[in-house]
Amino acid sequence: MITRRVEEHALELATSAQLPAFVYDLAALREHVSAVRSVLSVPGAPEIFYAAKANPDVPVLNTVAPYVDGIEVASGGELAHVREALPDARIAFGGPGKTDEELDLALRLGVERIHVESPYELSRLARITKDSGREAEIMLRLNLAGDRSGVALAMSGPFGMDPELIDSCTEILATSPQLKLCGIHAHLASGLNDTAMVAQSAEILTWGRAWLDRIGHTGPRDFNLGGGMAVDYSASDTITFDWKRYAENVAALAQPGETLRIEPGRAITVYSGWYITEVLDVKKAHGQWYAVLRGGTMQFRTPVTKQHNQPFTVIHRNQPGPTVTDEPVTMVGQLCTPKDVFARDMPTDHITVGDLVAFSMAGAYAWNISHHDFLMHPKPTFSYLTA
Ligand SMILES: *Cc1c(COP(=O)(O)O)cnc(C)c1O
Repeated sequence: MITRRVEEHALELATSAQLPAFVYDLAALREHVSAVRSVLSVPGAPEIFYAAKANPDVPVLNTVAPYVDGIEVASGGELAHVREALPDARIAFGGPGKTDEELDLALRLGVERIHVESPYELSRLARITKDSGREAEIMLRLNLAGDRSGVALAMSGPFGMDPELIDSCTEILATSPQLKLCGIHAHLASGLNDTAMVAQSAEILTWGRAWLDRIGHTGPRDFNLGGGMAVDYSASDTITFDWKRYAENVAALAQPGETLRIEPGRAITVYSGWYITEVLDVKKAHGQWYAVLRGGTMQFRTPVTKQHNQPFTVIHRNQPGPTVTDEPVTMVGQLCTPKDVFARDMPTDHITVGDLVAFSMAGAYAWNISHHDFLMHPKPTFSYLTA
């Protein structure tokens, strides 16, 4: 699916030789994020911190910011970038392997919360705050085991602390009054539907409350339940995550005195971006039809990293040239590797050299996760449409 604004713009870009292009429909983004905000306004519903790593482009941040409570960043680079773009935003800083320099930057740039990933990180933060006479509000990142089958990405492994490791933080906290424990953070999986997300949130809350009780915690009881709201790339651009039902059910989990928070990325921005390019060649090799597109997965890596067929719309331009009719076509890019595939064996009525292909669901984890310099093709252009 493609919005009319984006299609018209794509045709203009084609005539002025500005493809490939990333085109963002900021009006559509505003509509989506404001709808998410409004269902998450029921009493007890979590605060929303947008995970900047999904798409940190400044126009995207500016569009999202009025409808969220804050921004979650995962590196010193993201932190500096977001602080510059949104000087007043509440920021939460997470991510494994934070360096001393990054922790110091977080204190200097006025991060609201630091999500601590290990006892060693906590001890370094204790020293850095003590040496500089600063305080820091922290959340401990929990890594709970449990069945995450069926999720797109289980965040097991090195993220956060398992229940045994998290216990060793209490000693450091006891001797570091400048570190204010504000609760528990968890981001356990990506790709959960609303029911699975609520069940996982209940699991985090049960564990977190019991642990805070056990250590005799008297400070704020905030629970960051993570991101990972499901996005279904095979559902032709339909928003499959039921935000309304999720909001009602997660809000019901909150107890008096607790603040819940979530940090979605993909499910906020993915629907409002397109990677648009043009067909350079059409040919058949060993029984398989290919459309070779300008650009490639070095600019739009999402289908390769997710191993899926990226949804797309063909915009016909009726130019003369090689064509294929009523055959499945594999869409590839200009890279010299058989892995440069956007979508495999896709049914198409016809596709011809000069046609445009607009890949949708390209608004998150797209350009910014791609290895642009591979083969040194010209960079795509970027457009942010507001009306
Ligand atoms: C990546 C990430 C998110 C956002 O995940 P989405 O799948 O984009 O919603 C949130 N929290 C943490 C800690 C992350 O690493």
